[in-house]
Amino acid sequence: MQIGFIGLGNMGGPMAANLAKAGHEVKGFDVAGTTAEGAAQAATAIEAATGADVVITMLPNGDILRQVADEIIPAMKPGAVLLDCSTVDVDSARAVAEQARAAGLGALDAPVSGGVGGAQAGTLTFMVGGDESAFETAKPLFEIMGQKAVHCGPSGNGQAAKICNNMILGATMLVTCEAFALADKLGLSRQAMFDVVSTSSGYSWSMNAYCPAPGVGPKSPADNDYKPGFAAELMLKDLRLAAQAAESADADTPIGTAAMELYRRFVEEEDGRGRDFSAMLPRLETRRRG
Ligand code: NAD
Repeated sequence: MQIGFIGLGNMGGPMAANLAKAGHEVKGFDVAGTTAEGAAQAATAIEAATGADVVITMLPNGDILRQVADEIIPAMKPGAVLLDCSTVDVDSARAVAEQARAAGLGALDAPVSGGVGGAQAGTLTFMVGGDESAFETAKPLFEIMGQKAVHCGPSGNGQAAKICNNMILGATMLVTCEAFALADKLGLSRQAMFDVVSTSSGYSWSMNAYCPAPGVGPKSPADNDYKPGFAAELMLKDLRLAAQAAESADADTPIGTAAMELYRRFVEEEDGRGRDFSAMLPRLETRRRG
């Protein structure tokens, strides 16, 4: 396939390189001038999109996605698919998909989980919203860039799945960290906490697969001085998107909102920026009530 790839950052760069390595003809563009191995470099987003069967975007946020979509949609060939893999707000995802469909294009929102490691290894999970025929067109590309693609329904549902998942993740990580900090003060060892909770009803991915306590459970960023991993500011971004979606849909999400506020303080007022999101444990362990 001929593929245009716009946004060659930490995630987009290796994703584009994997598509090129698999034999697709990839033309990439990034405003910062970054490149991807094996991909031709376009001078503009329009040049990358022109003539492509699929145009993939991997951009920082919904406003930038809307700007790029305004530029490239008129340049895309009829029947081509616009495949956005960025994490953006549900409303932007739906608006861009609508705009693409009105121009005779297929459209998919397909945010990912798996991080930079998953992008490099080609083991991402894609959560996909959009119509079935566009999903079928993009399927071979998902198979190269990832290990799993779940079709979640119409446009916007990929983003909806991603932010609901990450709202659960943010909240369970926080409560796991505060439970460890409480256990410390009650004189319970972290190993005993892990051994009990990881096999009891308090278990979760945060406890069992990504334990925030150093030296306990499987290897995780806690064992590497809380270097990310999944940075606290990216968790804050996703919690803000969840709060924005909740407001837009008139849904009550009190725990998600509390998690957002705690990560906001951690990133903006404390030492959270650049640390893994599980570094909430050292933030909480020295604190007192109030
Ligand atoms: P990044 O900042 O490294 O990359 C974004 C790239 O977009 C940058 O290189 C930037 O120069 C480029 N860009 C910005 N405006 C542009 C424009 N108008 N035209 C062309 N290029 C433009 O970010 P990233 O870590 O690669 O993340 C990309 C997306 O993936 C984000 O939405 C993020 O939330 C999501 N995501 C990231 C991770 C992660 O672990 N990094 C995990 C899952 C999802």
